[in-house]
Amino acid sequence: MLELLWLLLPVAALSGWWIGQRSPQTGRNYASPSRSFPDAYYQGLSYLLNEERDKALEAFTRMAEVDGETAEVHLALGSLFRNRGEVDRAIRIHQSLIARPSLSRRERSQALLALGEDHLKAGVLDRAENLFTELLADREYATPALGHLLTIYEHEKEWSKAIETARRLQRQGDGRQYRDRIGQLRCELAAEARSRGDTGQARQLLRLALEEDPGCVRANILRGDLERELGRYKAALKAYEAVAEQDPGFLPEVLEGLEASYQALGRPGQMETFLRQVIARSPEGALIVRLVGLIEQRRGPREALDELTLLLRRAPSLEGLRRLVDLTRTLEEPIGTRELQLFYELLDGLEAERPRYRCQRCGFAGRILFWQCPGCKAWATLRPIGEVETA
Ligand SMILES: [Zn+2]
Repeated sequence: MLELLWLLLPVAALSGWWIGQRSPQTGRNYASPSRSFPDAYYQGLSYLLNEERDKALEAFTRMAEVDGETAEVHLALGSLFRNRGEVDRAIRIHQSLIARPSLSRRERSQALLALGEDHLKAGVLDRAENLFTELLADREYATPALGHLLTIYEHEKEWSKAIETARRLQRQGDGRQYRDRIGQLRCELAAEARSRGDTGQARQLLRLALEEDPGCVRANILRGDLERELGRYKAALKAYEAVAEQDPGFLPEVLEGLEASYQALGRPGQMETFLRQVIARSPEGALIVRLVGLIEQRRGPREALDELTLLLRRAPSLEGLRRLVDLTRTLEEPIGTRELQLFYELLDGLEAERPRYRCQRCGFAGRILFWQCPGCKAWATLRPIGEVETA
């Protein structure tokens, strides 16, 4: 983005200068040496090409000061100053631009948007909010203004306003990318309602979140926690079990709630059944460890170890291996050949997946030593990775 702005600056400067030269209503005094513009221009350009950006910026700024009519140059300069962190300077440029009576409607909207972005960057959110709100009247600039307003409302935790803004964006665009976001925003409102003690409202909001985004895992986690807190364990189970349908990867987040709810209903056996069903579809280490814990509680460590050995063969994992060592120690048995075999298979599997070389420049990693990095094309930047990699 920044690179593009730098390229845009000379283009804007030249087109502004050119319009200034051609336009009769600017009242330009043609007697004044117009050659001074190209001089400053070429000077600025050569600074840019030599990567002397500070000097280039000064040259183009001088050019803009002399040639007052070029809104494009001021806009480009303002954006550059903002991106360099000189927000005060950007604000001054954009403010003086807006104050001009000769500005076209489009230029005025561009300047308003830029000034709003300056204030956003400076963290003066109320001022930025006012500027973006003013822009909503201009159909062409309403979408970027709404995007910024959404960021502001989210930052200020004004969830209702954020939802309303996201809705407007949804109506203007394809509408797809805002469903997840609105779902999350409704969850935020629900969490607030819950901490106020308004459980009815919280439940209603979570229902709306799921209506908005049926894949919203967070809504079901919150729903489960809420119902469990109220002692409505069947409703809690329904919500937690729905997480498994949405995304089994998130199931470890609700295992505690699930187990407590089954326990409270006096059906600990169902937890085991449920876990077995999920593991059959997605054999995650965390789920296997939880299942084995249940088996140990209910039928003892021997059976737990047998089951774990079978499951680990199907889906090896470090946490599963860790549990295997624990169980062997509980049984006060030496580690058997069967378990040792499993260890070897697991370590081999992990070793086979481990990258052996990593580029120090771009992070490319692989199992073959390239002297020229396939990622960034630099020479001799790949180094062997030590046995234990911490990063
Ligand atoms: Zn590289």
